Amino acid sequence: MPAQLIDGKALAQDIRQSIAQDIEALVGRTGVRPGLAVVLVGDDPASAVYVRNKKKACDMAGLYVDDHTLPATTTQEELLKLIRQLNADPKIHGILVQLPLPPQIDSQTVLNAVSPDKDADGFHPYNIGRLVAGDPLFVPCTPKGVIRMIESTGQAIEGKRAVVLGRSNIVGKPVAILLMHRHATVTICHSRTQDLSGICREADILVAAIGKAQFVKVDMVKPGAVVIDVGINRLGDGRLVGDVDFKPVKERAGWLSPVPGGVGPMTIAMLLANTVEAATRVTKG
Ligand code: NDP
Repeated sequence: MPAQLIDGKALAQDIRQSIAQDIEALVGRTGVRPGLAVVLVGDDPASAVYVRNKKKACDMAGLYVDDHTLPATTTQEELLKLIRQLNADPKIHGILVQLPLPPQIDSQTVLNAVSPDKDADGFHPYNIGRLVAGDPLFVPCTPKGVIRMIESTGQAIEGKRAVVLGRSNIVGKPVAILLMHRHATVTICHSRTQDLSGICREADILVAAIGKAQFVKVDMVKPGAVVIDVGINRLGDGRLVGDVDFKPVKERAGWLSPVPGGVGPMTIAMLLANTVEAATRVTKG
């Protein structure tokens, strides 16, 4: 039997609808409308698309959006000055700095400058530390979305073998930590892993986040597994595909998330959720 699709688009739409209701309730109760500052530096076309989608979703849900599109020539000091202003702005509850930044700017220095209380992406070392300790303030958006998608299958995470392909700070590592906190037995694979196929075949839950088009072949997937495809890759013919070889894997997996329409929309929904959570915390003092 072919895998059931994990429809990230539909799931994200439901979450965004419920967030919109939460926002109006918060405004009614406290007068505070959650605000997200979106900072884009330069003219990377993919980043421009991501930022546009994020702003659109914010508008639709009723968040206040403070848009800062800066030229590619922006200096690090100019960007840090803006971040300090946003940190101090009471209308702003979340700050998103779209990555990558131009080469003259050190991304980590900028991410470190974002107030941990407004770090809607969850990339600040303080928030990474809290995540590792099992007491997160902000959970990074893509990993948070991945967990929600796995939970949507109704399959238990506890006790399962989970394999995460990729060990980046923004996807692989936090996904692995979140799965471990949910009591999965987690293996992280990367470019130096030996017998990667054999390890993947043991996975009840397989999360692919390496950025290599159609890398996960059908013989790497355990029958019935939950497979989440985080990758976004553009083929020569312009098609967008994930890290999973979708068609054949669909015949073997139990659940599979598509690209597009999988993790991408969930990432945006989680950004909204994190901003609303931050605003709610502020109103509670
Ligand atoms: P990075 O490039 O930061 O990390 C890639 C990871 O994959 C590294 O750990 C690398 O290993 C590993 N890797 C690369 N090639 C191989 C290989 N052949 N075998 C095993 N491991 C390999 O990527 P990100 O984590 O930022 O993103 C991963 C993918 O997810 C990308 O396609 C990106 O576009 C997508 N993405 C999607 C999002 C969404 O919202 N849907 C959000 C964020 C990312 P090593 O550490 O050894 O180099």
